[in-house]
Amino acid sequence: MNWRHGTVVEGGLEVMVRGEALLRDRVTVNGRPAERAGTAFWAPVVLREQETDVVAVAEGPTGRREHRVRVVWDRASRPRYRFSIDDNSFFLRDITRQGYASLFDCFYLRNLRDLHRRYGAKFVLNIYYTTGDGFELPQFPDRYRGEWADHADWLKLAFHAYQNVPDRPYQYAPAAKLAADFDLVAEQILRFAGEATYSPPTVIHWGMVPGEAWPVLVERGVRVLSAIPAFRGGAWDIQYFLDDARSDYLSRHDALKDFDSGLIFSNVDLICNNTPLDRIVPTLEPLRNDPNRAEIMDLFTHEQYFWPFYSHYLPDHFQRLEVALRWVTENGYEPVFFHEGLLGGAEG
Ligand SMILES: [Zn+2]
Repeated sequence: MNWRHGTVVEGGLEVMVRGEALLRDRVTVNGRPAERAGTAFWAPVVLREQETDVVAVAEGPTGRREHRVRVVWDRASRPRYRFSIDDNSFFLRDITRQGYASLFDCFYLRNLRDLHRRYGAKFVLNIYYTTGDGFELPQFPDRYRGEWADHADWLKLAFHAYQNVPDRPYQYAPAAKLAADFDLVAEQILRFAGEATYSPPTVIHWGMVPGEAWPVLVERGVRVLSAIPAFRGGAWDIQYFLDDARSDYLSRHDALKDFDSGLIFSNVDLICNNTPLDRIVPTLEPLRNDPNRAEIMDLFTHEQYFWPFYSHYLPDHFQRLEVALRWVTENGYEPVFFHEGLLGGAEG
């Protein structure tokens, strides 16, 4: 929760807790009596810590019921956005083969740098170990280390998967497989680009990792995972196997925390390769007016659509990014990296 969800008061954020209880029940919220009207109840609660347990208790002729929920208060929250690009491998193969004098002789990185210069945009590129056609990260030269470091304030590399195929590589894989692939890629990023460019990932290929394997990610510094919670075929998907209640919540909010693992799940707001140029602003605009979606813009796309040799090449892909970046910039959103602070914001 942030300033959009209540009233900022001395030392805290006052929010209204609402619920339903049986007509004859006496309801308290964090120990204080709640107002009632019919089956409804409501009571203000002031959040003073980063995490607060809200406990509603109903007591009456049929017994006692309790509903408990832990709330995260993003005290120092400001409107912000992050930009993540998945499925990266072709640009690394291109630079290796062409032997450019500069990383930015590769049109892909050059265009991203132009967007950085124009809008201050920051990018995390989630990369594969191999393109699957003979190119692997160990072939990538380390002579660009200085250039990577010079641009590490806006350009990061992170693990995404071993390779593009098969789909959903970690959905049913043992945790050890995820750990091994993660370490392979991380080791290479550190070798050829260096510490400053290295970032923990926030998107694992296909967004499906079972809870048993989450510790693999947490142990490696992952704090946030972006999901695209979609309900289809009678089940939630692309949400790291969160249960139904949490998938539904995340689909309507910016973020949700899993307190057992410490992971925060972010809800992707825009997938540029799926959104036609003239739909970018109409996709973002309604989010700005929804207090549950307005504060953090999780922007996202995939590398392959930038390349003319790709079967689904999008000639206007960079324009789509530009329209999205112009919109967030003009609407006061600041560029952040999710692995820094609380979803890229100050920890307050
Ligand atoms: Zn992917």
